[in-house]
Amino acid sequence: APFSVGALIELTKPQAHYLGTVLRLNAGGELRIFNGQSGEWRAQISQLSRKGGSLNVVEQLRSPHKTPDIWLVFAPVRKHRMAFIFEKATELGVSEFHPVVTQRTQFPKINYDKTHLQIIEAAEQTERLDIPVLCEAQKLEQVLDNWPSGRRLYFADEAGKTLPAMEAFQNEQAQSAAILIGPEGGFSDNERELLRLQKFVTPISLGPRILRADTAALSTLSLWQSVNGDW
Ligand code: SAH
Repeated sequence: APFSVGALIELTKPQAHYLGTVLRLNAGGELRIFNGQSGEWRAQISQLSRKGGSLNVVEQLRSPHKTPDIWLVFAPVRKHRMAFIFEKATELGVSEFHPVVTQRTQFPKINYDKTHLQIIEAAEQTERLDIPVLCEAQKLEQVLDNWPSGRRLYFADEAGKTLPAMEAFQNEQAQSAAILIGPEGGFSDNERELLRLQKFVTPISLGPRILRADTAALSTLSLWQSVNGDW
């Protein structure tokens, strides 16, 4: 819902439950709210029951700011490692998650509803004012075929002798970018070849050690944020 001074915001049942039962707030209680567009606002609970309630929007605390345009394209991994990636990448400011199914992907199932809630919780915790988009999983070939023009794809290649990630980020200064991380089994030779043929792909190295997919994703994101993002 749009926010403005005096606006009344209806709460969903789960939101009302969270405020009343988990946080033990009552009518008159205050909170900070965001909707992904209007920045951060102070609000007061005007009415609260088990089934729902409403908030009264009081004043703006922070104006909206543009978040860096960085996607994480990654092969789904084991459940607990993937939850870790979603939480930490949200904290690190990723704008979109694009799960990608590669030849050696072993855990292609994602519970989207649960993951979406985890992402929202991480966004709230970290006080960012938007929520990263979670896309449906696609095959690698599909992702490459539909790649948007103007977006650089940094392919973390554990095998090739290629440019260190930091150098690639500094050279290209891409403001719209994506980081591609493979599954625990790595990329196949075919996939590596296919990736290297694409004009929008830049292979990058993350050093001489083989990192787990979660470590690779989070360290690459941190590097990109400090070179081309908002760190
Ligand atoms: N089983 C593979 C490693 C996969 S690691 C092997 O032994 O070769 C999971 C993913 O993390 C890789 O596909 C790659 O995208 C990324 N990655 C890990 N270490 C890397 C490194 N040193 N350089 C570039 N990418 C790396």
